[in-house]
Amino acid sequence: LVNRRVSGERSYDKLLGGLLADGFDERSCRSRYQSVMYRSRPGKQPSAYLVSKLRQQEALQRRCGPGTVAYSHALEQLRSGKSAGDSTGPQDCKYLVSISYRGLGNRILATASAFLYAVLTGRVLLVDPSNEMGELFCEPFPGTTWLLPPGFPLASYTNFSVNTTESYGNMLRNKVIRTAAGDVRPASRLPAFSYVHLDHDATEQDNLFFCDEDQRVLRNISWLVMRTDSYIVPGLFLDTGFQGELGRMFPEPDAVFHHIVRYLFHPNNHVWGLVTRYYDAYLATAQQRVGIQVRVFGSQPNSPELLEQITKCTQKERLLPELLAAAADPVAPGPSRKTKAVLVTSLKSWYYEKLKGMYWERAAATGEAVSVHQPSHEEFQRFGARSHDAKAWAEIYLLSLTDALVTTAWSTFGYVAQGLGGLRPWVMYRPDNDTHVPDPPCGRDVSMEPCFHAPPFYDCRLKRGADTGKIVPQVQHCIDMSWGLKIV
Ligand code: GDP
Repeated sequence: LVNRRVSGERSYDKLLGGLLADGFDERSCRSRYQSVMYRSRPGKQPSAYLVSKLRQQEALQRRCGPGTVAYSHALEQLRSGKSAGDSTGPQDCKYLVSISYRGLGNRILATASAFLYAVLTGRVLLVDPSNEMGELFCEPFPGTTWLLPPGFPLASYTNFSVNTTESYGNMLRNKVIRTAAGDVRPASRLPAFSYVHLDHDATEQDNLFFCDEDQRVLRNISWLVMRTDSYIVPGLFLDTGFQGELGRMFPEPDAVFHHIVRYLFHPNNHVWGLVTRYYDAYLATAQQRVGIQVRVFGSQPNSPELLEQITKCTQKERLLPELLAAAADPVAPGPSRKTKAVLVTSLKSWYYEKLKGMYWERAAATGEAVSVHQPSHEEFQRFGARSHDAKAWAEIYLLSLTDALVTTAWSTFGYVAQGLGGLRPWVMYRPDNDTHVPDPPCGRDVSMEPCFHAPPFYDCRLKRGADTGKIVPQVQHCIDMSWGLKIV
C-alpha cells in the first residue's frame, strides 16, 4: 500500500494500479500523480502483463533514447542510408518517429496509436516536437525524453506525404520491397528507413501496413517514420501477428485507449493549473457533473437545431432535468436540493448562454439546481497558437472529469475526453442536413474507445476487399461514423 495516498477520507492509488511508473519528480509534473484525486471513478485496472510491458518499454526508451551510444549509432546508420543489417548486438535499437498533425484530439490519438505500435514491435517511440507536441505534456518515460531531438538526418521528414518515394506503399509499388513471396533478402539489404503513411489519402498499398506479411518486412527496418491523424489501433487488432500480445496486454479490449492515454498524456503544470482552478471553482462541489462537448466550426452560424438536439438528448437520457412551465414551483425547493454542474465546451458561447438561460428562467422538474459553465470560447479553430492549444487540452481534461459525458459525432476532441475519463459517452448523431434534428438525437456509445476514421477495407488472409468490421469480434463499426472501426 505504499502507493496509496490518503486525502480527507478517501485513499488514492496514485500509480493507477501500476500503470504509472513511480519515482518521477512530482513538482515537475503535478498532474501525473494528482489527477487521481480529481476523478470520482477509479478507472479500469491494467493487467499485470500490460504493467510489465510498460516497464520494459521505459527501459528500452532509456537504453536506446536520445543521448545514448545506441542512439548515435542508429543515427549514423540512418545517415549512411544502410540498414542496421543482421547485427543483433545489445545496442541494436529500432525506432518509430511519430508525426502527428491537425487538431489536438487528432494528435493525441495518433501518438497513442504510435506508442502501442512501438510497444508491440519493440521500437523506441520518438515524437516530432512540432505542433505543440513538445509543449503541452510532461515527459512520459522516466530518465529520458520522448521528443525527437533537433538535427534529425531526414531533414524534410515533416513534409512526408503519400507521394514520398520511401513510403511503404510506394516501396511496395516500385518493388523496392516485396512481401508476396516473402522478402528473402538479408536485412542488411533493406532500406535504412521507411515512411508509413496512414492519412485519409493512404493508398491500398499504404494500408497493407495492417497485414502481418507486411509487418514481417517492416520488422527488419531500423527506422520507421509514421504519419497519421487517426486512432489506428483497431487496425492493429486485425493483424494476426499482434492479436496474441494484444489479448494478453488488454484482457478488456475496450480499455486500450483508456490505459494508453492515462499512461502517456499528462498535462504540464501550466495546463494543470487551468484544469484544477476551473474544477475547484466551478465543478467540485456539485453532486453530479455532466459534460457536453459541442463541436462547431467557425463558419457555422449558431444553430437552433443543434441546441434542440442537445436539450432533447440530455433530457431524454435523463442527464439534465426537464423544465417546468415558467411560473411553476420546483418540486423540492430549499437548501436540500441537489446540485448539478454542466460543463459545456465549444468554440462558440451561444449554446452555453442558451442552456444557462433556460435553467435560470425556469425551474427544473426534479427540483435540482443546475449551473452551467463554459471555460472558454475561442470562436475559431487555430493552428499552432500556444494558449489556444493549452485551453483545448484543459477543456478535454475537464470533460474527462465529469460523471456523464455527451459528445459530438466524429470529434476526436470528445474521444480523448471519454478515454481519459473511462466514460462511455452519449454521442450526438451527425444530422443529414443542418435544418434537421436527428431522431433519436443521440445514442449511448458501445464502448469508450475512439473510432478509427480511415480504416483499411481489406482482408489480409483472403487478399481481397472486405468489411473489416466483421473479421474479429473485438473490432466493429462505430455508431457515429458507419465506415469507421472501433474496439468493443
Ligand atoms: P476534432 O477536429 O473535433 O476531431 O478535434 P481536434 O481536437 O482534433 O481539433 C479541433 C481543435 O479545435 C481543437 O484541438 C481546439 O484547438 C479547437 N477546439 C474545438 N472545440 C473546442 C472547444 O470546445 N474548446 C476549445 N478550447 N478548443 C476547441
